[in-house]
This record gives sequence, structure tokens and C-alpha cells, in this order.
Amino acid sequence: MIPRSADWKNALSNAIRDPAELLALLELPRELLPAARKAAEQFPLRVPRSYLCRIEKGNIHDPLLRQVLPLGEELNAPPGYTTDPVGDGAATALPGLLHKYHGRVLLTLTGGCAIHCRYCFRRHFPYGEENPGRDGWQGVINYLEANPEVDELILSGGDPLLLDTPQLQRLSDKLQQLPQLRRLRIHTRLPVVLPERCDAELLTWLQGLPWQVVIVIHTNHPHELAGSAVENLAALQQIGVTLLNQSVLLRGVNDDVTTLEELSRKLHVCGVLPYYLHQLDRVLGATHFEVSDEEAISLHTTLSNRLSGYLVPRLVREIAGEGAKQAL
Ligand SMILES: *Cc1c(COP(=O)(O)O)cnc(C)c1O
Ligand code: SF4
Repeated sequence: MIPRSADWKNALSNAIRDPAELLALLELPRELLPAARKAAEQFPLRVPRSYLCRIEKGNIHDPLLRQVLPLGEELNAPPGYTTDPVGDGAATALPGLLHKYHGRVLLTLTGGCAIHCRYCFRRHFPYGEENPGRDGWQGVINYLEANPEVDELILSGGDPLLLDTPQLQRLSDKLQQLPQLRRLRIHTRLPVVLPERCDAELLTWLQGLPWQVVIVIHTNHPHELAGSAVENLAALQQIGVTLLNQSVLLRGVNDDVTTLEELSRKLHVCGVLPYYLHQLDRVLGATHFEVSDEEAISLHTTLSNRLSGYLVPRLVREIAGEGAKQAL
């Protein structure tokens, strides 16, 4: 019998990693190649094929393409941009465990992702070394026992759903020793960018968890919500998962009110509530995505004037050392 995980693992290993192939498939000018190769040396290209289907061929300005195509601008290094803009290094309680905020801790299960987002603040973070691995999970349990006010565990990464379902099951079995846990939150792009991951095995695991489950999808543009991504969200909603979205405000991707408005409406159709709209973390390599605070606030004000309150995400920035994400 073919293991059920074969499909998504195949989709993952078939992801595009060669800039030349990406340009060819999307019928983009070959002149983009030298810069793409140079930028990809710093942070490799990775795009699942199903994501590619949602990109318009021949359009260098496509908002989904912009999230994944390495550009020469990534090599700019203006002052104020660093490799650890959110102070994760300082908040590490144990390898892979970040305890920054009251009542919740964030566990990075893997450094890997199915897609490499060019704006990612984790592009320089050594998650390969920083995740606890299976042997480290007991350390996490001990830490949580010593901090009984923590009632929510956040699985993050990388993308935590890159662990296969049996691994996730072993982790959740261990976590059941902790009576304090009320919520399990999963931050993942996979239901949208690698739709194959939401297979029956994953849904069964989620449905069997004894906690309230919250999944935060990271979608930046309404075009991402297409095809089987939409079906996945319906399936997750049907099994009782609370679905939230968090976006990053990105120059050339979603820095206009019409796009943000359409994103909120489409999310709601898919059963997802907009949660945060993040100002970009000042990570080296992402300078060309920055939107000024002034412009961000103005966009957000217009958005608030056009949408029902529950469709307006909170505009926030992460500031190292603060007790919560900071509203702008
Ligand atoms: C963002 C973040 C959280 C979650 O914050 P919420 O405001 O609850 O979404 C938790 N821990 C860390 C380390 C974070 O960076
Ligand atoms: S999926 Fe998330 S963690 Fe992974 S590269 Fe994209 S933004 Fe970064």
C-alpha cells in the first residue's frame, strides 16, 4: 500500500528550486536570471508547483511571483536592517522554544518551509540548529510544567506541518500530560501553498486533539486563495478549527486598499478571519518590500472605513523586547 503521506511529500520534493526553471515556466525574461541566481545563493528559491498555477504568465509584477522570485534588490544592505530583527535570539528559552509573551509559548518544529517567501524575517535565523528535535520534546514538557500559566502552545517554524502526521501525533500524545493546555495554535502556509498537505490523515489528527485548535494561515494576496486551497479551508472549518489569517504588508504585493479589501472579503468567504496585518520586519534582503508607517496607517484607516470591523486586521509591528505585538 502507498503511504498516505506520499502525495504531499512528492509535491514538496517537486517544488521548483531552480530560478531558470521558474523563469521558463512563467515565460519571464531570461535577463532576470543572473540576479535571481545571486539572491538565491543567500536564501534559495523554493516554490511548489500548485502555487505557480496561480501566477500570471509573463507578468513580472504578479503579486504572487513577487513573494517568491529572488531579485537583485535583496543584496541591498541599508542601515537599520539586521539578520535578527525581532530579537528571537534573546527570547529563546530552550532550543526552539520562544517565550516572549504572557500565557503562550512558540515552538519551532523545523526550519524548513514548502515555499521561500523573499520577505521572511527568518531567512537568516539558524532554525536548523534551533529546533528541539524529537529528543528535545521532553525539555519542552518540563519547561511548560514549570510555567503553568502558559495555556497555549504555538507551533511554528519554518512550517510546523512539514513534520509528517505520525511525528505530530507523537508530539501531541506527549503534550497530553499537560493539564494546563487549552489551545494549540498552528502557524502554517501549507493549507494554501501546498494544498496536498491537508490530507485525510492530517484532518483526522486535528480532529482528535483534545484542545481548541487555531490555525493561522499566512496569506498576503487574494489570488492565493484558489482551487484546493479553498477546499482545504472549508474542510478545516468543518472539523471545528478556528481559522485566522495574518499578512505582511508588502510593497508591490498588497500595498493598496482594493487588494487588502478583496483579501479580507475572500478570507471571510473561506471561513477565515483577518487577524494581523504586519509591518515588515527589517530583515536584510527585504528592503524593497518596505511600506512606510505613515502609508501603512493611511491604508489601514481607509480599510477600516470600508469594511465591517471584524474584517479589518490589526496593523501591528513586532518590536524586540515588548510584551506584545505593537499596534501602529
Ligand atoms: C507573535 C508571537 C506570538 C503570538 O502573539 P499573538 O499576539 O498572541 O498572536 C507568541 N510568541 C512569539 C515568540 C511571537 O513572536
Ligand atoms: S512560510 Fe513563513 S517561515 Fe517559511 S519562508 Fe515563508 S514567511 Fe518564512
